[in-house]
Amino acid sequence: MKRRTPDPVAPPDRRAQALAEALEEGGHLAAGAVDGIRHVATEVWSPSNGARVVARAWTDPDYRKRLLEDGTAACAELGYSGPEGEYIVALEDTPERHNVIVCTQCSCTAWPVLGLPPDWYKSPAYRARVAREPRRVLREMGLELPADVKIRVWDTTAETRFMVLPLRPEGTEGWSEERLAGIVTREAMIGVAKVEAPET
Ligand code: FE
Repeated sequence: MKRRTPDPVAPPDRRAQALAEALEEGGHLAAGAVDGIRHVATEVWSPSNGARVVARAWTDPDYRKRLLEDGTAACAELGYSGPEGEYIVALEDTPERHNVIVCTQCSCTAWPVLGLPPDWYKSPAYRARVAREPRRVLREMGLELPADVKIRVWDTTAETRFMVLPLRPEGTEGWSEERLAGIVTREAMIGVAKVEAPET
């Protein structure tokens, strides 16, 4: 009996390329459609959008109130809406309570304000462990929280997409909104890092 050796599996980018070419050849996919989606996924859905939301909330108390009451509408006010952003809930950090988000089922993020999820957020280890032992996971990721700060873990549902409104760091008094937005990271809006003011 002749034994067949399976072809080695090509890396994901080559398989994706081959699939896109086959679909384009068959007339099932408009030329350039994949590049268009890639552009949106990397340039339009960006954590820099969420950073602007946070900076606005830090500098405009009325906007902050609106953001906490209706995250979807407040993000849309700044032009950030769309897929995976239909129901955004902003979680307010306080000196007593720290919020961290996860999608234990898969890897959902609020695309319009956080962008696509980073690899570590998709990992089974993060998804399982941050729900069970958040303080330890945060410490391993470099965020050591004082013992009296409560940690609340929010698990993404089918509809809800969370973003954390982190604490504004000391030493940023009088900063412009734009300058503030420049120090807000995706990790801080997920809740695995603090926003730090750079040393001057
Ligand atoms: Fe998910």
